[in-house]
Amino acid sequence: MGARIVCKFGGSSLANAGQIEKVRSIVAADDNRRFVVVSAPGKDMNDEDKVTDHLFNIATDGHHFRSRGKDITARKSFERVLGKFRSLVTDLSIEGGDILEDLESDLTSHISNQKRLDFFASRGEHYNAKIIARYFRSKGMDTKLVLPEEIGFLVSDRFGNAKVLPGAHANLREALKDGPVYIIPGYYGITLKGDIAVLSRGGSDLTGGEVAYAVDASCYENWTDTDGVYQVDPRIIPEASVIPELTYKEIRLLSSRGFNVFHFDAMVSCKNKNIPINIRNTNNLSAPGTRIVNTRTPNETAVGVARMDGIAYVYIEKDMIGETIGFTKELLDIFKDYSINTHHYPSDKDDIAVIVDQHDLKGKADDLKQAIIKSLSPNHLEFRYDLCLLSPVGIGMKNTPGVLARASAALYQENINIEIVDQGPSQLSFHFGIFQKYADPGLRALYRSLLKQPTA
Ligand code: ASP
Repeated sequence: MGARIVCKFGGSSLANAGQIEKVRSIVAADDNRRFVVVSAPGKDMNDEDKVTDHLFNIATDGHHFRSRGKDITARKSFERVLGKFRSLVTDLSIEGGDILEDLESDLTSHISNQKRLDFFASRGEHYNAKIIARYFRSKGMDTKLVLPEEIGFLVSDRFGNAKVLPGAHANLREALKDGPVYIIPGYYGITLKGDIAVLSRGGSDLTGGEVAYAVDASCYENWTDTDGVYQVDPRIIPEASVIPELTYKEIRLLSSRGFNVFHFDAMVSCKNKNIPINIRNTNNLSAPGTRIVNTRTPNETAVGVARMDGIAYVYIEKDMIGETIGFTKELLDIFKDYSINTHHYPSDKDDIAVIVDQHDLKGKADDLKQAIIKSLSPNHLEFRYDLCLLSPVGIGMKNTPGVLARASAALYQENINIEIVDQGPSQLSFHFGIFQKYADPGLRALYRSLLKQPTA
């Protein structure tokens, strides 16, 4: 049996007919690429919103966009979605009248409540897969459409955030025997009661990971619109390079809000079966992308620097914290009560700081403050806002003296004060909290001192 490659193509790779043709030639270029998971069509020049968002808007009668401050009615979204699929059919020169009719009938169906949201949201992937399968066939490729509802890609009935059920793998395996190129819509599955339920947003990555697991793939290629995972956010440092290879652990540490190229839950299945993930760019085939693997031998110390903006910390001073058994537990329980995720908690004998996303404090800060005062009677309590966390990452940092020293010296040279510092116990990362206004120069300083190759 030859290598089995699962390819997942994201929305930007499938945004129009030209992109779909690129996808076809990528699949045709390697006989081992036989399991093709597709997203809904992404945004394109004519529309700044994704098809999936329009579908949510139709299902919620315009609430989806209204609540995001956008003036787009359900009717308008309906026209956009139909128009989008109509132009795909026309531009790909395929016979698609039946597909468009079915789409229209689905989008006018009267399903109620949460099931309605999931059913509508799934239609982007469902109809895109139908169109792509037909197009591939029209180009002479032996292609089979595999629909989650037909083959039993089983998911839980947690609508909007369904989880893949164990039985799904056996059903996938059964449906994906050797032979043609399979086209599989991502993002949704079928519940045990026969309802359509969607995974979390960006969930086609998850479908891809599950397919890779089920067929024992030799590689899971995740095709997107970037060359791979960059050392630092290339929007800030354009000269940053793509990291060729990363461990699962490193990519977890590197990604942050706004700088994610991959859905993490999708990695778990691949990690468990040791299936490498290769992030590739549909629009730049010459770039080998980033490979995510279980183990690698590092020939560098840090591989990248993650950045998290908009950080706050809650600072508490109280005598004898260090000797009070259960103090930290009690404190963190209060954050839990308010559903606030806590990121780090550097502490000392008589004080502790809890680092959070300041967004999560919105509308809760006053109550949280009162709750802390009531249960823990601190000597001093303060909320400090507008910080940024810069976190160098790399398995090569473990047991390597001097990395933290170099990094802090680089900030010192820029006259940037470190408000907070915390090293992860795995020694694969450490975190500097600095004021937000220094985030860009701080990132540049860390990039220069830890990542930039010296020029000859
Ligand atoms: N279309 C879905 C979304 O926009 C799933 C995906 O693209 O992976 O979230």
